[in-house]
Amino acid sequence: MRLGIISALAEEQHGLLEALQSPSRHFHGMREYTAGKLWEIDAVCVLSRIGKVAAAMTAAILVEKFGVTHIVFTGVAGSGDKNVKVGDIVVADTLVQHDFDASPLFPRFEIPLTGLSSFATDVALTERLAGAAAPISRVHRGLIASGDQFIGKLTQIQAIKTALPELLAVEMEGAAVAQVCFELGIPFAVIRTISDNANDEAAVDFMHFIKTVASRYAFDVIQNFCKA
Ligand code: SAH
Repeated sequence: MRLGIISALAEEQHGLLEALQSPSRHFHGMREYTAGKLWEIDAVCVLSRIGKVAAAMTAAILVEKFGVTHIVFTGVAGSGDKNVKVGDIVVADTLVQHDFDASPLFPRFEIPLTGLSSFATDVALTERLAGAAAPISRVHRGLIASGDQFIGKLTQIQAIKTALPELLAVEMEGAAVAQVCFELGIPFAVIRTISDNANDEAAVDFMHFIKTVASRYAFDVIQNFCKA
């Protein structure tokens, strides 16, 4: 396995670069890719920056230029369900692009020419990630939705939840990585710690959480994952 580890923000990958042994840094396409050994696993860490295009580009480059065979995305997200609380962890089983709508040509959410409106994560990788997260916080498994919006209004999250009742979390990158990995045949998984409730308080909660808890969680989860 050569594992690509993507996060959108530096806080979401806090400590991982320092943990990489024999690191080698490569700049490409306005991003820094750092390759090395992470607890015996051959890994490449990178910050995608925010949004679906940024994440899609990063995932494709990881595969095509850096030869990763598996991808894990680790980051934070807004809650998409009343039972999913700030500090809980959501591991995706499926991901959807909640802002994708080519109707009436295609059903809402369907990605044209794939015939799919959601993309499933790799079962083995997802099990391993959920196992790695279990000692750290409460873990939920299910649907994560991604779009090019920070969801910071109650009316916004309510509209998404109405369209996607199974929703557990909202974020801005996971489903883009999912589509790229599906198209390239790369096993992938997505893990998100809940930083906010995607409601009117989301922006304030997010800023607080990202600095305090999120960074510690990501490190511990990836460490458990690599050592498993
Ligand atoms: N003000 C921040 C912007 C962060 S955008 C900054 O300047 O850094 C939010 C990031 O966290 C995205 O990468 C997204 O994937 C995730 N996220 C957390 N809460 C979210 C929410 N409520 N809606 C959408 N994305 C969210």
